[in-house]
Amino acid sequence: MATKKVGSSGRFGARYGRRLRQKVTEIEKKLKQWHKCPYCNKKRVRRLAAGIWFCRSCKSKFTGKAYEVK
Ligand SMILES: [Zn+2]
Repeated sequence: MATKKVGSSGRFGARYGRRLRQKVTEIEKKLKQWHKCPYCNKKRVRRLAAGIWFCRSCKSKFTGKAYEVK
């Protein structure tokens, strides 16, 4: 369960350790945000899959890093 304390990594339960789950929360929080499009500069980019990003504003699909655009 996702809680306020552990965020989206709550699904892993008590195993795996605290540091690792914090890392997961950090990364997944980033995934859910809107990212900036390198073409139209609007924050309308979502991740489709690892390394594949899609801008809902200018409808461009492009590659980037697995967990962030850059
Ligand atoms: Zn765009």
